[in-house]
Amino acid sequence: MFDLIIIGAGPGGYEAAFEAARLGLRTALVEKGDLGGTCLNRGCIPTKTLIHSAEVYEEIRDAGRFGIVTGTPSMDMKAVQAHRKSTVDTLQKGIAARLKAAKVAVSSGKGTIVDAEKKLVRVTGNMGDGAGTAGDDAEAAGNNAGTVGDSADMPGTVLLEAPDILLATGSVPAIPPIPGSDLPGVMTSDEFLFYDGEPLKSLLIIGGGVIGVEFAGIWQAFGTKVTILEALPSLIANMDRELGQSLKLSLQKKGVAVHTGAKVSALTQAEEGICCTFEEKDGERHCTAQAVLIATGRRPYTEGLFAEDCTPGMERGRVLVDEHYETSIPGIYAIGDVNGQFLLAHAATAQGLRAVRHIAGLPDDPKPDWIPSCIYTSPEIASVGLTAAEAKEKGIAAKSHKILSSANGKSVLTLQERGFIKVVYEEQTHRILGAQLFCARATDMVSEFAAAIREEQTMEEMAAVVRPHPSFCEMITEAARVSPPGTLSR
Ligand code: NAD
Repeated sequence: MFDLIIIGAGPGGYEAAFEAARLGLRTALVEKGDLGGTCLNRGCIPTKTLIHSAEVYEEIRDAGRFGIVTGTPSMDMKAVQAHRKSTVDTLQKGIAARLKAAKVAVSSGKGTIVDAEKKLVRVTGNMGDGAGTAGDDAEAAGNNAGTVGDSADMPGTVLLEAPDILLATGSVPAIPPIPGSDLPGVMTSDEFLFYDGEPLKSLLIIGGGVIGVEFAGIWQAFGTKVTILEALPSLIANMDRELGQSLKLSLQKKGVAVHTGAKVSALTQAEEGICCTFEEKDGERHCTAQAVLIATGRRPYTEGLFAEDCTPGMERGRVLVDEHYETSIPGIYAIGDVNGQFLLAHAATAQGLRAVRHIAGLPDDPKPDWIPSCIYTSPEIASVGLTAAEAKEKGIAAKSHKILSSANGKSVLTLQERGFIKVVYEEQTHRILGAQLFCARATDMVSEFAAAIREEQTMEEMAAVVRPHPSFCEMITEAARVSPPGTLSR
């Protein structure tokens, strides 16, 4: 018998497993695919390797701006993919080694809850191969502790039992019912991330959310003619309006065609590629491209997860949870994309740690998690806490202070595009409520704001920190400087 069975080995599941093992829980981790989940295999890490290749390509192409004379660079997509693969392999081996060291029993196969009361999980499939499989790690965990037996009537399956189960099964791309979305050359990020053919001449992206704009940045840098079709009036519509507007202008300046308020009605095969028909304010339009990326969101993944009578409360595909991430079935928890609260790797990790500590009987951290959102475009985009509009909606008297990156030495000397940092703070106390960043290193600098919000710091306290010069993070000091030092601090 285990103390905890975790289903899904993405950053939610494997980090929860490390924490559970650290707290002394005998832990089983069930995974049907490769360790690392969407983030490592089909999401954050592969995308960021492509983004890095695109940035290096642009740096070399534009090196003349810094006085360096080079030839014209070219893309070798096979080598780009080889770098992606070796990055993923290295990180995967690291996770497998850490799981082994933590004595987590990794069971390779598909997990199904077959008895919600007794907390029985049936694992079906490819047990026994590779590093970190049931055989190896169950031994590491101590005599196959949690395997209650091969099911005689279902060969190739193993039953695991524990008082608690943590679901961390992630999400899959959601494909809208657009006629022609099954044509060859129409892909989701799951397939497109592995593209190793000749650089594309043209690419049409349906959806101007996070995936859409990150891929637009990559392929525009590679020299592809990119078109984005977004149904809503703005790109990255769930973030601060100014971020979406600034991103649209930046992408357009680089040559990306951005259509917002565009409703796609059909994809058809044409001689020159795939023809997309869409409606805009002024009527029906067409656009043809060599390939189409569908990036219209993701949906929680629960296929085959629950046997009959084992399904917890759900709403539109997502597993409903309380403040401890416990589902409507006591002892069954759900963290990360599968509960649909945030579809972000670091949110899954944070939720997993909280759920495991609750399972282990530790007191809850009374402070809420402030989850930063990051988009790896150029310039980078990041946001944490409230926007000015959200503060207003909540009836909070708030102000915002915006500074431009054009006076920052490091931004100027590295020839960065013009960007900004905006800080939202409570009018009376100057307590920091949120921040929105559109500038180089935004995805690193946002952590300072997350920490400040968590520690309930004022603008003055944030401005009082001495930051190095020259650095991008000097902008944080400037953004927080709204009143003379010493005033309004605790
Ligand atoms: P998303 O929800 O961010 O964006 C999807 C966009 O597609 C929306 O703006 C929506 O209005 C639009 N859309 C939907 N149907 C459409 C249609 N028929 N025609 C035109 N537009 C349409 O989803 P995503 O970009 O697919 O990303 C999926 C999830 O993965 C997100 O929740 C995201 O947070 C996560 N993710 C995060 C990162 C990161 O943190 N950097 C990177 C990639 C993905």
